[in-house]
Amino acid sequence: MPVGTVAKGLSMEHQNQAPTADSADVVVVGFGGSGAAAAIEAHDRGARVLVVEKASEEHHSPTTALLAGGAMFGTDVDQTHTYLAACAGNLIPSEVCRSWAEEAAVLRDWIDGLAPEAFRMAPPKPSAEFPHLPGAAAIESSFGEFTSADGEWSKGSGAHLFDALRRAVQRRGIEVRYGARAQQLISTDGRIQGIVVDTETGPHELHAHRAVVLATGGFEFDDELKRQYLTGGDQVHFYGSRYATGDGIRMAQAVGADLWHMSNMAGRGVGHFVDTEGRVVNAIMLLDLKWVGLNDPVGYIITDRDGHRFADESVQAKLGHSFYYEMLHYDAEAGVFPRIPSYWIFDQRRFEAGPLTIPRYGSSGAAGYAWSDDNSHELDKGWIHRGTTVEEVAAAAGIADPSAAADEVARYNRACAGAKDPYRSATMDMTPLDSPPYYCVKLWPGGTNTTGGPRRDATGRVVHAFGHLIDGLYACGENGSIIGERYPGLYAYYSEVLSSGRIAGRNAARKRCPTAEH
Ligand SMILES: Cc1cc2nc3c(=O)[nH]c(=O)nc-3n(C[C@H](O)[C@H](O)[C@H](O)COP(=O)(O)OP(=O)(O)OC[C@H]3O[C@@H](n4cnc5c(N)ncnc54)[C@H](O)[C@@H]3O)c2cc1C
Repeated sequence: MPVGTVAKGLSMEHQNQAPTADSADVVVVGFGGSGAAAAIEAHDRGARVLVVEKASEEHHSPTTALLAGGAMFGTDVDQTHTYLAACAGNLIPSEVCRSWAEEAAVLRDWIDGLAPEAFRMAPPKPSAEFPHLPGAAAIESSFGEFTSADGEWSKGSGAHLFDALRRAVQRRGIEVRYGARAQQLISTDGRIQGIVVDTETGPHELHAHRAVVLATGGFEFDDELKRQYLTGGDQVHFYGSRYATGDGIRMAQAVGADLWHMSNMAGRGVGHFVDTEGRVVNAIMLLDLKWVGLNDPVGYIITDRDGHRFADESVQAKLGHSFYYEMLHYDAEAGVFPRIPSYWIFDQRRFEAGPLTIPRYGSSGAAGYAWSDDNSHELDKGWIHRGTTVEEVAAAAGIADPSAAADEVARYNRACAGAKDPYRSATMDMTPLDSPPYYCVKLWPGGTNTTGGPRRDATGRVVHAFGHLIDGLYACGENGSIIGERYPGLYAYYSEVLSSGRIAGRNAARKRCPTAEH
């Protein structure tokens, strides 16, 4: 293939270099959860597999390794299928939901078998996020457990889950090439023949005898894709892997792939801070500390840019996903998103109760930022505002009408004493904001990851914009997830990522038909 046909995707310094070449049966692009699952499955089906990863081994931090580390399962394929299809709305075809339901039924055993000496799943519990939807009773989730040095099993994280995947990959002798960024697919007459990677030494062609699997994650750190596809655009911020720049989306588009649900994601309000050196720290924000096992009652409200409350903040406190949609309200007359940013107001009780985020969680942790235990460093940096009155802190944070925020706090406090609250259905969990000084932090829509990308069929094969299947091209994980409108339940992304990785790997390992099948 002439170099000129692939040169556009390469870095400037390598554009005139002739590529070197080698090959495998299946080339997997991206070594996160979905790529590892695809590689393991393709290998176990008899394929010679090569994984390319754009991060160096030293800096490799796929989203999969950044906390959590559980999975969602289904106890009954038919019911799980019904539930997943109901959550997907009409974004994902029924047969694609079914393919996930079939994997979800066996996923727990598969994970337990990855590296049994190091990682296993805890007993599952019911976990459907929408228990009223049909089939919800079949949905359950469990967190992972890892063996510590003394041989005891403890609650694990995404890093432990990824360690189990890495062990399983290594045990099989599957080669992982780090520092190898896939730039472009090699396509001949509509058939995908391999990829071109940009390495330190120049462009390198990798030929895939059977298929290429794009497991490159989402587009959380590509501002242009966010601007064009997400409601809220580049004001939406993520705390996942910085390597998630939509590379797999662009590579698939370049060979004619259709894209699906690019604007869809399961989000929440997140912290977004920039320090004096320009370093960005995006962080999950804990309105109360129940999520990390502490039960100190604390008060909180969230207002829009004018100081008015607009929704039930306890949804955000519970880290549910509905509050995100409330934040995306658009005022077409004014041409603004009046709830971006929103303003979280709290008092000394919450400030003292513990860090506002989970230190070393997500990308802020991966980037080496350690949130202080007493929030003092972030107060000094101006990421947290403080005032002796609500009005003072609201003004300091930039709320347009600080007196409106003070009125909201007064009304909220009356509701805590028994008056009717416009947004919360019960006063039980409402603690007054009456312990000065007061604090305020800006919240932005965002979260862990995007889900849009190339459309796939039930076998993980990428679908062309004109409806036929692209020969030799598969996708999995966040790169065009098969989660549709609603997030089904605890650890659903992990479930989708591992299930869709297995589906893609299994089918990619099949020998090709001599002619392209459309
Ligand atoms: C802090 C945090 C908490 C989370 N908690 C949960 C949870 O509780 N439950 C849940 O279900 N999900 C959770 N998630 C989401 C879940 O972790 C992700 O959806 C999932 O891990 C994504 O897996 P992936 O394989 O698609 O992508 P990744 O794990 O990001 O892997 C993609 C890989 O591809 C590489 N890559 C990208 N472009 C290229 C290229 N051009 N060439 C070569 N390599 C490339 C990247 O460097 C990366 O290593 C959480 C995410 C975060 C950040």
